[in-house]
Amino acid sequence: RTDDNWLELPNPWGIPVDICARVDVPVESSAVDEILTVLRTADTLELLGRATGHTATIDRVVLTPDVHKGVGIPIGTVLRTRGALLPQAVGNDINCGMRLETTTLTVDDVRGHLDGLERRLRHLFFEGGRRIALSGADREALLRDGLPGLLAERGPGRPADGIWSALRPGDLDPAAGIHGASYPTATAEPFADWIRSAGGTSHDSIIGSVGGGNHFVELQYVAAVHDGPAAYAWGLTPGRVVVMAHSGSLSLGHQANACGLDQARAAWPTGLALPDNRIVPMLLDERSAARRRRYLDAFGNAANFAVGNRFFLALMMRAGLAAECGDLDAHLVYDAPHNLLWPDPDGSVVHRKGATPAGGPTVDAPWGEPVIVPGSMGAASYVLRGHGSDRTLASACHGAGRRVPRGASARGGDAELDAFLRDFRVVTPLDHRDPAVRRRSDVLAAWRRDLKQEAPWAYKDIGPVVSSLDGAGVATPVAELRPLLTVKG
Ligand code: 5GP
Ligand code: MN
Ligand code: MN
Repeated sequence: RTDDNWLELPNPWGIPVDICARVDVPVESSAVDEILTVLRTADTLELLGRATGHTATIDRVVLTPDVHKGVGIPIGTVLRTRGALLPQAVGNDINCGMRLETTTLTVDDVRGHLDGLERRLRHLFFEGGRRIALSGADREALLRDGLPGLLAERGPGRPADGIWSALRPGDLDPAAGIHGASYPTATAEPFADWIRSAGGTSHDSIIGSVGGGNHFVELQYVAAVHDGPAAYAWGLTPGRVVVMAHSGSLSLGHQANACGLDQARAAWPTGLALPDNRIVPMLLDERSAARRRRYLDAFGNAANFAVGNRFFLALMMRAGLAAECGDLDAHLVYDAPHNLLWPDPDGSVVHRKGATPAGGPTVDAPWGEPVIVPGSMGAASYVLRGHGSDRTLASACHGAGRRVPRGASARGGDAELDAFLRDFRVVTPLDHRDPAVRRRSDVLAAWRRDLKQEAPWAYKDIGPVVSSLDGAGVATPVAELRPLLTVKG
């Protein structure tokens, strides 16, 4: 530990590895062991360099306050390479992210309607109650050109049927920046089957699915403002109701990821043993250009799908609100990706796996990049403004992070879960108050087990996590959000 907010990890390769975590934020030692294994990729790159004559390096690694062990590479890792990219440093769920939009409703407009809203949202999200009309051309436009491409394809003239009734004029205005980023690709061919199959055949590929586990769509309100001018500029005024959607690219991301690994293996020089830490880099050389293109197209398609999916999840929440609480308008604060790579023309690539960008002020974003840090379904979430810290490669954490691995947290007490359910409203596919469900103790027990994995005590305290970002000069808190209702896949 070098000071209150930072730790450094010395390593034989001399790669700067900084861990941002205040003294009171636990850092999982198994995640630190895991990153040491990842660093062995520096040797892999050297070997590759000797075999191909193309130089590539890892030049900086950052671990965020929510770091915890992942598969191969810890969640909460930012890694910058030069001359190579690492498909595995992105995470399986390509472009998993957080979308935050404000509504024109206040907490008083909503609080009295939560019972009706809960029933309506369960129907919309889980009981076939939604209709997302998309033609094959729409789906192709979304995957190839991103959400702006889809909205241009739909045009303002098409009928506002199904979920499209929740579209607002601002959504079609690119100048309002409401779309979120797009990842232009040459083709959506990698997902031709998905496009033809009317947008998925199972819940892990159908657009508008939340996805399981820690994915959610949450209705929140602004409970406290910490930076008045920035909060006001972003529409985060006290009592304001906001929608936070956390989801990724469902099975499309997994498919694109598999493609990345396949292409990296196919581009691997013959005769050279594959790395024993199982992390397979892809050199940014001429020789692998076609294979890289194939991966980056699939990657971009999946990333575009994720932005679109978050958009539709927000529309679904808007539709529920409009039906229960009256007409509303909505405005995007930000769509923040936390599983992504950013290739730079200078040959460097920033990979973020479970970490979110936290860029500093620009002409377009005078308050800095919005940093969305959710806590849990039973705790506060925060919006901060980024400072573009060099030390974190302009990155911040994307949540509080698990306190204990999945499985271990399931041992939490039943009394705690009951207390949690009295205080917080969770909409899941199963209605635990339904008398028919209550008679099925096996079903109910499984439901309780799953829910405990997501309970507030499964996650670190959000306060010290956010203070770490603040103290380290990474991002400053703007507003604190509290949950009104959480939809969990
Ligand atoms: P991920 O799944 O992307 O690794 O983690 C997302 C983060 O979201 C977690 O670290 C946790 O802090 C937070 N989180 C998980 N479930 C919920 C939820 O239902 N509501 C809110 N507000 N935050 C959550
Ligand atoms: Mn995520
Ligand atoms: Mn995800």
